[in-house]
Amino acid sequence: MRPEILYPLFKTLTTLPGIGPRNAKLVERVAGGPHVVDLLWHLPTGLIDRSFQPLVRDAPAGRIATLLVTVDKHLPAPNRRLPYKVLVSDHSGTAELVFFHARPDWLQKTLPIGAQRVVSGKVEHYRGAVQITHPDHIGLPEDRQCLAGIEPVYGLTQGLAPKTLGRAMGAALAAVPELPQWLDEAHLAREGWAPWKDALSAAHKPETESDLDFLTAARRRLAYDELLASQLAMSLVRLHMRRQGGIATKSDGTLRARAVKSLPYTLTACQQTALGEILGDMGAELRMLRLLQGDVGSGKTVVAALAMLEAVGAGRQAAMMAPTEVLARQHLAAMSPVFEAAGAKLALLTGRQKGAPRRRLLEDLASGEVDALVGTHALISEDVAFADLALAVVDEQQRFGVAQRLQLAGKGRGTDVLVMTATPIPRTLTLMVYGDLDISRLTEKPAGRPPVDTRTVPLERLEEVVSGIGRAIGGGHQGGRQVFWVCPLVEESEAIDLAAAEERSGALARRFPGKVGLLHGRMKGPEKDAAMAGFAAGRIRILVATTVIEVGVDIPEATVMVIEHAERFGLAQLHQLRGRIGRGTEKSTCLLLYGSGLTATARERLKILRQTEDGFKIAEEDLRLRGAGEILGTRQSGLPAFRLADIAAHGELMQTARDDAALILDKDPGLATARGAALRVLLYLFERDAAVGYARSG
Ligand code: ADP
Ligand code: MG
Repeated sequence: MRPEILYPLFKTLTTLPGIGPRNAKLVERVAGGPHVVDLLWHLPTGLIDRSFQPLVRDAPAGRIATLLVTVDKHLPAPNRRLPYKVLVSDHSGTAELVFFHARPDWLQKTLPIGAQRVVSGKVEHYRGAVQITHPDHIGLPEDRQCLAGIEPVYGLTQGLAPKTLGRAMGAALAAVPELPQWLDEAHLAREGWAPWKDALSAAHKPETESDLDFLTAARRRLAYDELLASQLAMSLVRLHMRRQGGIATKSDGTLRARAVKSLPYTLTACQQTALGEILGDMGAELRMLRLLQGDVGSGKTVVAALAMLEAVGAGRQAAMMAPTEVLARQHLAAMSPVFEAAGAKLALLTGRQKGAPRRRLLEDLASGEVDALVGTHALISEDVAFADLALAVVDEQQRFGVAQRLQLAGKGRGTDVLVMTATPIPRTLTLMVYGDLDISRLTEKPAGRPPVDTRTVPLERLEEVVSGIGRAIGGGHQGGRQVFWVCPLVEESEAIDLAAAEERSGALARRFPGKVGLLHGRMKGPEKDAAMAGFAAGRIRILVATTVIEVGVDIPEATVMVIEHAERFGLAQLHQLRGRIGRGTEKSTCLLLYGSGLTATARERLKILRQTEDGFKIAEEDLRLRGAGEILGTRQSGLPAFRLADIAAHGELMQTARDDAALILDKDPGLATARGAALRVLLYLFERDAAVGYARSG
């Protein structure tokens, strides 16, 4: 239950002065929610300085001024097209207040003849007269001090007047209670942060432009509160989930040892660390909820395969779900030798299996005859049942979503979950999107891979590039290089992108007959397989593709990649694409073809790609260049919508919040101490009500 101290903040917007049912809709739109607290999170984006108080005679055109005047005369509008004017003056001269479509009764009431008024607005000079059209404020002389100050400017929406919002905001701020201290005192002192209420009012009362910056103490404190609420809530949920019927899965290691022995390489140090973390989780009587994050080619698959063999070795089963058919088959191909060496049975299940073979497979799965299964989302079909699913590995979780991840885990008892992602997103974003998971990272590439030689080439030199490709693929015989040719996303429409890819492959095929294949998202399974197989076998030397190849095509022989209109792709996407080459021991080349009229940002993106292959570094740069929302899209991608925290600006606070949350729950998992009670208020303040429930069971 929400604590009483927060009641004033969770009143509806209509309780604020001037907010009726009609305005409430508009205010709700800008506030992002129906409560007073939502409005309070709507921080100013600018300010208007109304402190300039000249005499009428000295009021310069174009400036915001606050004038103290006497009302002399009303000149009602002669017709609907002309304005209503009110003449006002001080001892230095006369000014006109101009109103279009105004209600005369309101004007007469607001500006009675003979009365003194304070008027603030933008001064204009029109035919020798000083004018203010639709003054922003009209007040009594005693309001002068208050009106002639700095006014915060808020984001608005059509139909909502700044004055209406300003008045409601004033009332909302006045109703803000003092809340208990949920931050660590030492932390507060170190950062020089004010108490919550003071920070909130400071953020709403900018005095200079620099007070609007994300990095002011007030804004950082508010952002931190929001991030802490988010991390604490996610940690509470994670702790709760992990406690749900976890089973210790532990083998004697025989199968794993056999598999490792069969590998033509040794595991890198970070592969070993990650595997150790995974085995530790599996062996504990808690459910594993872990993310394995590593760049394309960093060797996640083998780590996952060894974890799966741990489950099999313990007499249980494992499954791996991939986002596409192509990827599922690749995982099967990559893992089959490992499973064979271990003496375990691995099978494939995709949407393409039908009828009797599918039925037989499902029987073997249910009986435990099949030890492990790799496949697409066909794995979560209702009729798929395991004998005893111990480990669910989900590849590329962003393409699935949390619900599907849990659906697969739901097919077992206390099933451990390992999510793999090759999207190297910055650490701060990882914590936001995957905050409900523990995190293992593969940060180094397997040894022996030469760097990809990345070059940028203007599109005008396409002809040269094609000739160069001709030389690279060699004449007539095999042994030349193999080329990925990526066509750009031209439009939103897939059909148009497709046409571009078809045209390119057609042109290349005329030049290099019999050596060019095409791969795109609209192709049927068998067609795709045929194209892939032809490329894998080396018959096809140039594979023209739309971005479907982004999701994990593994052809180590491909050592050249051409990306047409590289400037149209995002940095992370280009990095993902490039990851398709440079997987073997041969030297690889990536040509980024760019069109004319590069923007500064596009130019910088291409430069970063030329300079580094480190996915995590590229991700940080991407964040810097684009901002978080664009990197991950919106809610759909799992990015929580923050009101006060800006991921690019406050990223460093995220890690602190994560550590803070961990420390808090370590010491006080039930949030039972005084600080714990304050933290509950924080959780309710940010509407993490459900998470508070999990604290109780602590
Ligand atoms: P990811 O799934 O992370 O994109 P993969 O697991 O497909 O990467 O690994 C890419 C390639 O690297 C595979 O061909 C794999 O056999 C190889 N590989 C994995 N680990 C190592 C290692 N420690 N040393 C050398 N090669 C490795
Ligand atoms: Mg376990």
